[in-house]
Amino acid sequence: MSQLTQQLHHSGIGDILENSIAGKRPGHDECLRLLDSNDVHLMGLVGGHLTRKKFGKKASFVNNMILNYTNVCITDCKFCAFYRPPGHDESYTVSLEQVESRLKAASDMFGITQVMFQGGHNPKLGIEYYEDAFRLIRKKFPKVGVHALSASEIDMISKVEHTSTKEVLVRLKEAGLQSIPGAGAEILVDSVKKIISPKKISSDTWLRIMEEAHSIDIPASATMMYGHVETKKEIAEHFVKIARLQEKTGGFMAFIPWSFEPNNTLMQKEETVKYAAGGTELLKMIAISRIMYDGLIPHIQSSWLTNGISMAQMALQYGADDFGGTLLGEEVVSCTGARSTELTAPKIIDAVKQIGYQVEERDNFYNPVKTH
Ligand code: SF4
Repeated sequence: MSQLTQQLHHSGIGDILENSIAGKRPGHDECLRLLDSNDVHLMGLVGGHLTRKKFGKKASFVNNMILNYTNVCITDCKFCAFYRPPGHDESYTVSLEQVESRLKAASDMFGITQVMFQGGHNPKLGIEYYEDAFRLIRKKFPKVGVHALSASEIDMISKVEHTSTKEVLVRLKEAGLQSIPGAGAEILVDSVKKIISPKKISSDTWLRIMEEAHSIDIPASATMMYGHVETKKEIAEHFVKIARLQEKTGGFMAFIPWSFEPNNTLMQKEETVKYAAGGTELLKMIAISRIMYDGLIPHIQSSWLTNGISMAQMALQYGADDFGGTLLGEEVVSCTGARSTELTAPKIIDAVKQIGYQVEERDNFYNPVKTH
């Protein structure tokens, strides 16, 4: 009997993990049992095993920049240190000229293949702003994929334009939008959203907008922000809601669990959350993500941004296959003071090689661009 099999027999979650190795994904109750268990290492052995079965000892990353086009926002999420209300001294909106010059600098210096274009809910920006920006990017930088606008930004544009979110998606796709980041999901349970982001779109609206995007062939990522007021049961619900939509549409390319960073946020000030969730919790979430989505959502991202490079190296062995992006120019998480949020491709390549893995640079759609 192998050492892993013996360990599985002695664990309270052995049956779930054995099923997982045999290709059977957990449901809500099994997910809850995984979340309740402290057998993180064992979950990681299985998460890592499932990942290596599919990808070998290889990790991908995307050479990208983040363009936070505006910090003006009227949604006041309690976990956000980035936004400023309209008219605030520190508010900004990036002009089309600035979009072009930033893209040019990042393309010339780093050869980026993706721009992640995200910002606040700015009621002054109509759909033309986004259409013009995406057209400009696709025309002048054809090698750069446009990964842009969370479901809640799309909802905001539809409100500004008094039109449907589907119509917004159709127009933005036409202008060059290629894929959608998973932000804005947080925890897809409205009782949680009521506490941390009461003015943001509901869980059903997030899922509906994602479904609309998938229906017109705009793929997306899905995220989960854990480590604040949510319960384990609500995390399990989040995992399952995304699985259900993916079974229907197949439109999610990746899942990214990331931990809430409390620094400089209202939630820290109000003492709702004092500390970030930490490394062991990250590894647990990564392993559970792989186990929950094996054969359903192909990629699990390591989330180095809020947990650092060393934890990302561990995550690659617990179930992640993608390191994420280089994230030049990121401003949202930087506002919490969470580590340096600048990371160039050579540093990612070194970090992956340090653990003896091959590194593959990918494009916006997870197609390989270059093996290092
Ligand atoms: S998380 Fe997004 S929607 Fe919420 S306040 Fe910050 S910028 Fe606005």
